[in-house]
Parts: sequence; C-alpha cells; structure tokens
Amino acid sequence: MSGIGNLFVVVAPSGAGKTTLVGKLLELDPHIRLSVSFTTRAPREGELNGRDYHFVDRPTFEKMIAAGDFLEHASVYGNYYGTSKRWIEQELAGDHDVLLEIDWQGARQVEKIFPNMVGISILPPSLAELRRRLEARGKDAPDVIDKRMASAREEISHVLEFPYIIVNERFEAALSDLQSVVRASRVSRAQQAVRLSKLIDEFR
Ligand code: 5GP
Repeated sequence: MSGIGNLFVVVAPSGAGKTTLVGKLLELDPHIRLSVSFTTRAPREGELNGRDYHFVDRPTFEKMIAAGDFLEHASVYGNYYGTSKRWIEQELAGDHDVLLEIDWQGARQVEKIFPNMVGISILPPSLAELRRRLEARGKDAPDVIDKRMASAREEISHVLEFPYIIVNERFEAALSDLQSVVRASRVSRAQQAVRLSKLIDEFR
C-alpha cells in the first residue's frame, strides 16, 4: 500500500515548538497536507473541531478502532489519538505530500505500513530550555509541567529511531532544516523511481 506522495511524520515533546514550525512549513509549502487526527480529549480554548482535531467520544473512537478506520492509534496522557487511514491513502495516491504530527508510538505503527515514511524528530536545545518554554507559555500548572517534562524525556528517549533529528534552538534555522528534509525527500530514489520511471526506462 503506497502512493507517490511523501509521508512526513514529525515527532516532538510538547514545548519543542513543533506546531509553530510545522505551521510555518505548511504556509510556505501548500503541496503538503496536514492530517487532522481523531481524539477523545476535550477541545482546548481556541481549538476547532475538524481543523485542530476531530473530537469524538470514547465509544465512537472504539467503534472506529474495531472497524479498522485507523492507520495508527495510541493512548497519550490517558486519551485516545488516531490517524484516519482512508484520508492518508487518498492524499498520497493523489500525489500530495502528507504530514502527520503524532507521538513516537504512532510513528512506529505507521512505519510498518509505509516503510518509506520520512520520520523527523524535533528536539529542544536542552531539558532546561524545554522547561523554561513550558513555563513561559503560562498554560499549565506546575504539576502538569512536571508531567509534561516526564513525557518529554520518554519521547526524547526514542529520538534515535528517526532518520532526521532537528534541534529547534533558533526558529529560522530549524525551519530551514525542516525544509531541507522535505526537499531532499522529494528527490529521493524511492520517490523518483516512480515519478521518473519513463525517463529512466528511456536510458535502459
Ligand atoms: P495534544 O493533546 O497536546 O494535542 O497532543 C498530545 C500528544 O498526542 C502529542 O505528542 C501529539 O503529537 C500526539 N498525537 C496527536 N495526534 C495523534 C495521532 O493521531 N496519533 C498519535 N499516535 N499521536 C497523536
């Protein structure tokens, strides 16, 4: 099962700046489509159903698991999160690049189905800086920040499972690194062998 578009999977602990980086990447590169995940967690202030997530209740999510609707799903912070299989397959088959923002457990599952996926891990420059960013956001109580720091360590412990690792110390530099990964993937052999098959055959 594979289309011709690239499948980018971006993984990062919360506070690494992933959402802002990915947001800018997509703004500059309309060829990439962002997958909107399903989740059972409640919407946060300012989040929109269908734009940030598809918000569903647990029975609905469990029915979708049973129906095989998910490419991958995982339980994160006590809530379910999952990626729609049909949407991804349609987009890739239509030669669109697709980007998933998921956790490391989901990335592992996706790689089994799409071995050519491009896994990218975003790291903060240090644990101290990650804590500083989480505190500066002012969104979470101290005990929640401690929990986020613990899960950040867990997420970061899987960093070497990903072929690309970007440190988000300076935003512009990290964005440029991310764009370079996207550009390189588009001219990779796995992509070009399909896209340029006629041209390559001419020289045989
Ligand atoms: P948040 O609740 O802060 O939006 O996301 C919490 C965590 O769930 C983040 O690490 C995020 O990457 C991950 N996540 C979001 N959507 C999905 C998904 O569809 N599948 C998996 N496996 N993780 C997801």
